Amino acid sequence: MKKDKALIIIDVQKDFCTGGALPVPNGERIIPVLNKYISLFKKNRFPIVASRDWHPEDSKHFKSNGGVWPKHCVVKSDGAKFHPKLCLPASAKIVSKGTIPSEDGYSAFDARDNNKKKLSRIIKSIGVKEIFIGGLATDYCVKASALSAIKENFKVYLLKDAVKGISSKASADAISLMREKGIELLDFRKASKLFAGRVKYTRKEA
Ligand SMILES: [Zn+2]
Repeated sequence: MKKDKALIIIDVQKDFCTGGALPVPNGERIIPVLNKYISLFKKNRFPIVASRDWHPEDSKHFKSNGGVWPKHCVVKSDGAKFHPKLCLPASAKIVSKGTIPSEDGYSAFDARDNNKKKLSRIIKSIGVKEIFIGGLATDYCVKASALSAIKENFKVYLLKDAVKGISSKASADAISLMREKGIELLDFRKASKLFAGRVKYTRKEA
């Protein structure tokens, strides 16, 4: 099967959930839905990518170093771990961002894997053309990642039932901007139908 679709999960890390250093209000509530998407993509053998904030202690992104954010997701810290309820398969590709002191790392398209390969190269090299984005936070990293994906010429779907933002006003604005840029909104029911349709079509062809 062609790997033309990929699930991109943005920053579902402990520090961005309740009890973390920079919590998105009720951020962890999207995890059960994300797990359903993970199963759907696994079943269809499509790639799954998880991005993570992975900051050095001296990141200029932190308030203590002149930035705007409390210290969060410091390399190898407990808060930087993926939330334990997120069922990431072993085959998921992990990409890290904000890894150098001068870099904020809002967009997952600035993230790289362990071999320093950037996200767009990783997924383009296996034939991905459409990406499905969920995660945290709608008004920051999800928005930045979705807009980068458009610039990189991907067809982009925002999983509206699997994202959560810091501010509801800023999240609503982010979603309108994403729609203006041609990003389509999907929920799990619609996504399942899209995938089911694809399977039926393949069978008919065979
Ligand atoms: Zn950060």
